[in-house]
Amino acid sequence: MSIMKNYVNNVLGGLIEKDPEQREFHSTAKEVLTTIIPALEKNPHYKEARILERLVEPERVISFRVVWEDDKGEVQVNRGYRVQFNSARGPYKGGLRFHPSVNLSILKFLGFEQTFKNVLTGLPIGGGKGGSDFDPKGKSDREVMRFCQSFMTELSRHIGQDLDVPAGDIGVGGREIGYLFGQYKRVCNSYEAGVLTGKGLEYWGSLARTEATGYGLLYFVKNMLEDQGRSLAGQTVIVSGSGNVAIYAIQKAQELGAKVVTCSDSNGYIYDPNGIDLAEVKAIKEVRRGRIKEYVATHPQAEYHEGCSGVWSVKGDIALPCATQNEIDLEAAKILVANGVKAVGEGANMPSTLEAIAHFQGNQVLFAPAKAANAGGVAVSALEMSQNSLRYRWTFEEVDAKLKDIMKNIFEDAKSTAEEYGCPGDLVAGSNIVSFVKVADIMLANGLV
Ligand code: NDP
Repeated sequence: MSIMKNYVNNVLGGLIEKDPEQREFHSTAKEVLTTIIPALEKNPHYKEARILERLVEPERVISFRVVWEDDKGEVQVNRGYRVQFNSARGPYKGGLRFHPSVNLSILKFLGFEQTFKNVLTGLPIGGGKGGSDFDPKGKSDREVMRFCQSFMTELSRHIGQDLDVPAGDIGVGGREIGYLFGQYKRVCNSYEAGVLTGKGLEYWGSLARTEATGYGLLYFVKNMLEDQGRSLAGQTVIVSGSGNVAIYAIQKAQELGAKVVTCSDSNGYIYDPNGIDLAEVKAIKEVRRGRIKEYVATHPQAEYHEGCSGVWSVKGDIALPCATQNEIDLEAAKILVANGVKAVGEGANMPSTLEAIAHFQGNQVLFAPAKAANAGGVAVSALEMSQNSLRYRWTFEEVDAKLKDIMKNIFEDAKSTAEEYGCPGDLVAGSNIVSFVKVADIMLANGLV
């Protein structure tokens, strides 16, 4: 085994030994570290400086108690977290996730991914992630508000517009960001617009932030297809999820001439052979906060199936997983490939397992990895920070044009780096290497950090 392969295996082994239960974190660390071996071989001084050991250790992890009162007057206790992973490129930046599955392993995986993703955007932001095991589903607006206020009362000590700038993620949308921002302002006695992104437009959110992750995903996939002389127009697309990322991915895919036939939530999926009616999905999910199965009540030609994993058995040309981590396992990947899928674009974070990625790549399926393909959301968050610093607002068209450029640059950087390091067409390796080298070089330039 080569020296660098051995080095990577030792670092990965050390992670498992130290925190054996952190499976999601081990998985993303493995994905990144095993693909950057060519960069380690080219730069042996990284190993001498123990750069991998430094990179896999978050700069700071904060865990705290969140106590709040529900509508019945009963006291509830949740756990809150912020993982400040890496500040080489700027203030920690990354979303907050409110979901019962949230734990340190999931937030370390997301914060680690975020560090590299944020470098790809070319904007001055480091990597972080946070959240809570609180479940906003089924809670009243007042309960969500009381939870957010309690959560921010503690979080406010650890964030700031030049220190750490959270945003939304699963379970945290405009409503939650509004409550969090209100409490930050109250506790800190300061109007720091740039302390959170994904804010409402009236209090200095950016135009196009809501759409950015889904739109950016489609811009990336469009670049990837066109590079192969293919087009999105006329393709059948399978989307999972029906949240922020899924909704705007569906919107842009339809605008670009594709036919989207599925969407899902954690209970089940919809198959509409006529193409998904996005206005209805928005009414169910954004207005009524309902369940996706309600779709068939107004669209009798569509089918609803219980269980979200069945969505991958639907035939299509392009698959866009936009729900959550590990939603495409090897079995699902095999079904997609057998059904003739030509491209996969990851809207969610780590939706494909390592085995699923290997299966796609081994079968010549074009594969757009999450950290590159879904970077549009955080890129526009960084543009929101710029606008807040300028105390100025760009138009929707200006932000969208910048987003398009950023996604094109990310695709080109990943592609050219993959070629330079001897793995042409491998956008997983390309995006990991280009961002790793940048972070590593800054960390070395900054001394023992
Ligand atoms: P939302 O909360 O808006 O939507 C999440 C969607 O995924 C919902 O349809 C939800 O269904 C479904 N879902 C959540 N958990 C599961 C699960 N365990 N199994 C099956 N389905 C599930 O979140 P977003 O759209 O913001 O985020 C989706 C993904 O995209 C996440 O991986 C997130 O990290 C990633 N991402 C988001 C960005 C953003 O800007 N928002 C930026 C980059 C990445 P249900 O309603 O039933 O829970």
